Amino acid sequence: MRFDVLTIFPEIIESYINTGVIGRATNLKQTIAIETHNIRDYTRDIHKKVDDSPFGGGAGMILQIEPIYEALANIIRQNPDTKKHIILTKAGANIFNQEKAIQLGENFDHIIFICGRYEGIDARVEQYLSNESLSIGQYVLTGGELPALVMLDAIARHIPEVLGNQESLEQESWTNTNTKEYPQYSRPAIFKPERPNLIDKNAPSEWAVPEVLLSGNHKSIQDWREDNKK
Ligand code: SAM
Repeated sequence: MRFDVLTIFPEIIESYINTGVIGRATNLKQTIAIETHNIRDYTRDIHKKVDDSPFGGGAGMILQIEPIYEALANIIRQNPDTKKHIILTKAGANIFNQEKAIQLGENFDHIIFICGRYEGIDARVEQYLSNESLSIGQYVLTGGELPALVMLDAIARHIPEVLGNQESLEQESWTNTNTKEYPQYSRPAIFKPERPNLIDKNAPSEWAVPEVLLSGNHKSIQDWREDNKK
């Protein structure tokens, strides 16, 4: 699976994709490839300017179409045979979710994100240069880098072998009809905090893991987990 991210702040993307599960999948396992493209590298403007004021007036600046077109043309030239899907990050678009993440991973082997900045992007990018616009929620961020990373991460987790343990995907929140996850605990079985009421004034002095989870009885554990999803 290949991802490309078009942005004017590649460093935001780089720091994330070289870390943790995504970093391992890219650098060690090579199950996914991610390339970041600085939109400024594709402008003909001698001052590397990639934004301009909107025709008709209005607040703020708009990312121009030309460098985005050139960046996409370059990616397509270098990857002529991939099954591509170009996603424009857009605050007011349809909301991305887990089902969408799985579908995108199953239907395409090359996903390209375009990150907006300023007041947005020349509307011809949505019209002629992208397959779909997606939002990560009903709020406005300063740029499309976090949305691109959120979507990339959620899609990549479902690519075989990206996660160390594929079973992690099966019982997760938002998987199939499962919108909830059961609570999980680890050692110590009983935690005795110095200040039990640090946050919750009604908390007991010892915080114990539900006994059934220590019983070794798989059927009881399964029933308990089913009953305690939240
Ligand atoms: N003027 C735009 C509006 O009213 O929707 C907001 C532009 S925002 C400051 C700059 C860029 O951030 C957008 O072009 C988009 O790429 C990205 N962005 C902001 N919020 C987003 C969200 N919730 N989901 C996806 N992208 C978002």
